[in-house]
Amino acid sequence: MQDEKCPKCGAPLGEVVETATGKRLQRCTAGSWNKETKKSEGCDYVKWLEVEPQTLDEKCPKCGNPLVLNVTRFGKKMKKCSTNVWNKETKLSEGCDYIEWINGTTEKLDEKCPQCGEPLVLFTTAAGKRMKKCSTSGWDREAKQATGCTYVQWLKGNFASAPANGEEFLPPEDIF
Ligand SMILES: [Zn+2]
Ligand SMILES: [Zn+2]
Ligand SMILES: [Zn+2]
Repeated sequence: MQDEKCPKCGAPLGEVVETATGKRLQRCTAGSWNKETKKSEGCDYVKWLEVEPQTLDEKCPKCGNPLVLNVTRFGKKMKKCSTNVWNKETKLSEGCDYIEWINGTTEKLDEKCPQCGEPLVLFTTAAGKRMKKCSTSGWDREAKQATGCTYVQWLKGNFASAPANGEEFLPPEDIF
């Protein structure tokens, strides 16, 4: 794949790089990202590589087919039905339209809750805000109230959108 040519200018494409949100792309070697001006210079061709959807051990509640985990360009995660495909010709999605957005992720931390001594977890919201909260905390959907320990510590900054490499300035991909 290394000798692939840029469709815009004919220069070879660079190495596959991975963005902060786990997407893979190849830039044209005739272009570069200027960190100071925050603009791309030279050829701005970017080829986004599709991330293989991960098949989940869960069934679609609508049709019973397996669900797959998809990650959008901005690092948002969703589960969707594996029968759902994008038809490039009609520009419509086909198959089952079940989608479930995942609103955040939790990571286990090696820290103890100052209130109850249980482990803390790092929670990242879909908008990229982070907080440490107690692993015993939960949400009772029926009662619409929080359960367990209420310890929460918000972390400053918006980590998910940190402009590590100017990713957010890149042209939109035409897939999904
Ligand atoms: Zn080019
Ligand atoms: Zn389905
Ligand atoms: Zn606690």
